[in-house]
Amino acid sequence: MKQPSKKRIAILGSTGSIGVQALAVVREYRNLFDVRILTANNNWELLVRQALEFKPQCVIISNKEHYDKVFEALDPYEISVFAGNESITDAMSHSDEIDLVLTAMVGFSGLEPTIAAIRSGKAVAIANKEPVVAAGRLIMKLAAEHSVSILPVDSEHSAIFQALQGEHSPIENIILTASGGPFFKATPEQMENVTVAKAINHPRWKMGAKISVDSATLMNKGFEMIEARWLFGVDPDDIRVVIHPQSIIHSMVSFTDGSIIAQMSSPDMRLPIQYALTYPERLPLDIPRINFAQLAQLTFAEPDINRFPCLSMAIEAMKISGVTPCAMNAANEVAVEAFIQGRIGFKEIPTLVEKGIARAEHITDPTLEEIFMTDKTIREYTSSLIR
Ligand code: MN
Repeated sequence: MKQPSKKRIAILGSTGSIGVQALAVVREYRNLFDVRILTANNNWELLVRQALEFKPQCVIISNKEHYDKVFEALDPYEISVFAGNESITDAMSHSDEIDLVLTAMVGFSGLEPTIAAIRSGKAVAIANKEPVVAAGRLIMKLAAEHSVSILPVDSEHSAIFQALQGEHSPIENIILTASGGPFFKATPEQMENVTVAKAINHPRWKMGAKISVDSATLMNKGFEMIEARWLFGVDPDDIRVVIHPQSIIHSMVSFTDGSIIAQMSSPDMRLPIQYALTYPERLPLDIPRINFAQLAQLTFAEPDINRFPCLSMAIEAMKISGVTPCAMNAANEVAVEAFIQGRIGFKEIPTLVEKGIARAEHITDPTLEEIFMTDKTIREYTSSLIR
């Protein structure tokens, strides 16, 4: 029997929560994957350890200050070392021997490498959602032009993708589940005194700081509605959100005959990551199995739009479309960073996002240049409101 050839992968953002878990999947299936490229933003020590373990052809550290340390550590090995975001985009444009790129960076800065990967015909497993929020229409258009598959990694979108396998009939609704974040039951008084530590302490998922804050404001769920819209080509009016604190149902799709197909599992990101990496195969994974009798109940609730203005702004931005989601994302990235640094309060995040959205000039079907320009303008504007 012929040995199946290994899937050659690049992991952009290998030291973050998703990247680390992706490498845990690879570690279990070393015979299936050949890690070619690893990139990190700042965590050069972990990047070096990963490089020594997985022996990629190339590693890239975004923060150029760390280049010398990475270079020295990897000098005895046949591993090329580059620095800077532009090197990630270059690697995506030029290395031919990559079958799948996992984008697991944080924020809008992932857009350029994502576009470069698609343009050079590499399949993309998308965990980095901000580029899809800001430029989803363009990303999907380019992917279609270059016959590139886009595989979802976000647990909700993986659930929808799994529910759609073998389906050819139209989707009636997409129902995204949300754990509700750490403040699902918080009183208005408690919301007044949200600290960074409380905001990043998510009840169900252990994640990076940026996405944890987005989960606390429910902006993350708004982003995921926009992400779902583009990934699955559904009308904004056909996407719903339901709070489901147990995080067992990861999302659902309803069809015109009234059937609803849900994907369920213990909450563990290795499952959607592994599914994206091994698709269309399902491989064994050692996560706890659901015992329904023990679980006793799955509960659901309507999200409280009034307490979580970021969610209602995201729904509005999704409907307006054009550059509005890009502007919203830019303002949100600046505001969340300021919150994490302790420069603004939690409740100022939606205020700044609202101002950022209002500042954007409306462009219905923006080019990539217009997306980058909007991002830059709204970032500068939002920063000026904080200083
Ligand atoms: Mn998610």
